Amino acid sequence: MKYEKLLPRFLEYVKVNTRSDENSTTTPSTQALVEFAHKMGEDMKALGLKDVHYLESNGYIIGTIPSNTDKNVRKIGLLAHLDTADFNAEGVNPQILENYDGESVIKLGDTEFTLDPKDFPNLKNYKGQTLIHTDGTTLLGSDDKSGVAEIMTLADYLLNINPDFEHGEIRVGFGPDEEIGVGADKFDVADFDVDFAYTVDGGPLGELQYETFSAAGAVIEFQGKNVHPGTAKNMMVNALQLAIDYHNALPEFDRPEKTEGREGFFHLLKLEGTPEEARAQYIIRDHEEGKFNERKALMQEIADKMNAELGQIRVKPVIKDQYYNMAQVIEKDMSIIDIAKTAMENLDITPVIEPIRGGTDGSKISFMGLPTPNLFAGGENMHGRFEFVSLQTMEKAVDTLLEIIRLNNEVSK
Ligand SMILES: [Zn+2]
Repeated sequence: MKYEKLLPRFLEYVKVNTRSDENSTTTPSTQALVEFAHKMGEDMKALGLKDVHYLESNGYIIGTIPSNTDKNVRKIGLLAHLDTADFNAEGVNPQILENYDGESVIKLGDTEFTLDPKDFPNLKNYKGQTLIHTDGTTLLGSDDKSGVAEIMTLADYLLNINPDFEHGEIRVGFGPDEEIGVGADKFDVADFDVDFAYTVDGGPLGELQYETFSAAGAVIEFQGKNVHPGTAKNMMVNALQLAIDYHNALPEFDRPEKTEGREGFFHLLKLEGTPEEARAQYIIRDHEEGKFNERKALMQEIADKMNAELGQIRVKPVIKDQYYNMAQVIEKDMSIIDIAKTAMENLDITPVIEPIRGGTDGSKISFMGLPTPNLFAGGENMHGRFEFVSLQTMEKAVDTLLEIIRLNNEVSK
């Protein structure tokens, strides 16, 4: 096998429970994430990475693969996240299925759950490959431990297996809490000190993502005036009715369940209250900067109009930006997309470049000044018991990183 330790590394990492905790106020969100970062630091040192250090400020473990070339080439950063999604991660017991026939139903351990090509047509893409799946009781954690294992395998290759492979300086970083949306908030671009980076956190073979949503959250408070319903005529203002009116004033079809591709939306996440006071929570998403701003403006305009009609301020929106479409940063220098695309094409991988209907750590890091698109790591059906990954795709992810590094070496800074 080409990268002998890739699979054992992956199996070792997924067995560690690093589920992040949304309700935590610490960074990282769990002690297990601190410990796993330190364990990764020891592994990085053992492979020969230099300047390995843990950042208390953000929970990242960082290390350097020193340059072995006289050429003045751009420094590349490689990032993956250590935490896993909000699903049982205790006792992950990965199952290995060699030479999958592309059509059989795969039993998940002793559970009633199966991976059936009827439900998951993506299985047909994996004929003849080695699949790693769950025993049905946990998630797999391929998101993003496949990315972690791939980057470590790349480091091992450059430092120990083929040290003559010429490359510039490469920095590696593994961080916490991507799944709870805060992992990159405290990312330290100055400490990482590279010219561009990739997160290795995408899905199936060929994924290359540099367009994400721009995102905001809105909380709308509605203040009612509650009086006895028997004598309420022309007096009662029902806060719940205000919330319903507000929601109905939003464009009817701009909802997640009615949109796809590059269409944005308003998503009502939570609605609670009494006639006296109510509260609605939304997320706002769009790929286009202009439309994103229009959506936020509309939420304010509806409130203003209602307040004018009520003659009082009873509708109070608070709208906060969450992250922005990283294309706005990356499009200024598309060479880092071109290099990844060419790398895949050189390896006979078809690049799959589509805007993400979500965000990545790279959406935030790009706006901190470090352009950071996302590359495939291999996982399928992420975040639950049906998750699986192909070993061959993981190998191709390492190949792609190597080819990117080789191509980067041909261009002087
Ligand atoms: Zn991920």
